Amino acid sequence: MIATARTLLVTGGSRGIGAAVSRLAGQRGYRVAVNYVTNRPAAEAVVADIQTAGGDAFAIAGDVGVERDVLAMFQAVDDRFGRLDALVNNAGVVDRMARLDEISADRLERMFRINITGAFLCAREAVKRMSTKHGGRGGAIVNLSSAAARLGSANWYVDYAASKGAIDTMTKGLALEVAAEGIRVNGVRPGIIDTDIHASGGEPGRVAAVRDSLPMKREGTAEEVARGILWLLSDEASYTTGTTLDITGGR
Ligand code: NAP
Repeated sequence: MIATARTLLVTGGSRGIGAAVSRLAGQRGYRVAVNYVTNRPAAEAVVADIQTAGGDAFAIAGDVGVERDVLAMFQAVDDRFGRLDALVNNAGVVDRMARLDEISADRLERMFRINITGAFLCAREAVKRMSTKHGGRGGAIVNLSSAAARLGSANWYVDYAASKGAIDTMTKGLALEVAAEGIRVNGVRPGIIDTDIHASGGEPGRVAAVRDSLPMKREGTAEEVARGILWLLSDEASYTTGTTLDITGGR
C-alpha cells in the first residue's frame, strides 16, 4: 500500500547501500529513481523488486561526476515524476590501498570528481527543485559520508577519507543555506559495511580481515545503514538538519 507519493532520487542506487535505500524507500511509499553508472542489470533488478512489491521506480544511467549526466538525470526525474522530494547522495568510489606519497594526480581528480563534485552537483540540482525560494515545496537531502572522515584512513586511502570530510562540511554549510527554504540536509557516516566497495578497491577480504577489530565483532549491513537514511529523510526527523549520523557499530 503506497502511503505517499513522495519522490526520491538515489545516486548509485543499483548496488550496496544505495540499493538497500531504494528498496526500503519503495516499501515506504516513495517513488524511486535508481541511478547507476555502468551496471544496468543491477539497477533494473532493484527497480523490479520495487515494482513487484507494488511500488513505482525507474532506472537512470549517469555518472555523477559528469555535469551533463547530472543535468540529464534530474531532467529524467522531472519528466517521470514531475517533482522531487528527496535526494540521497550515495554514489561514491574508493581506490587501491596507498599511502598519500604514492597517490597520482589522476587518481585524486577521479576520487574528488565523483565523491565531492558529484555530490555538490546533485545537491545543487535538488535545491533548485526543492527550495521554496525557487518555487519548490521543500524536501530532504542525505549525503553519504564515512567513518573515514573522522578516522583519516591512514595507509588505506587518505584521499577517500578527505573526500568524505568535504561531504561533512558541505552537509553543514548547505543545511544552513537552505534551512529556511524547507530543505533539511543531513549526512550518514557508515563504518565497515558488507558491500562490493571493498572488492572494487582491490580488497575483497577486507570485511573478514577487520571483523574482529570492530566493537560489535561484526560488520554492518546495507539495510542497517538504509534504515538510518530513511529516518533522516522522514518527517520523524523534522527538526534534524545539518548533522551527520554515525552508523558504525560504535567504531
Ligand atoms: P558499492 O557497493 O561499491 O556501490 C556503489 C554504487 O555507486 C553502485 O550503485 C555504482 O553503480 C554507483 N556509482 C559508482 N560510481 C558512480 C558514478 N560515478 N556515478 C553514479 N553512480 C556511481 O558502494 P557502497 O559500499 O554501497 O557505498 C555507497 C556509499 O557509502 C559511498 O558513498 C561510500 O563511500 C559510502 N560508504 C560505504 C562504506 C562501506 O563500508 N561499504 C563505508 C562508509 C561509507 P554501478 O552499479 O553502475 O557500478
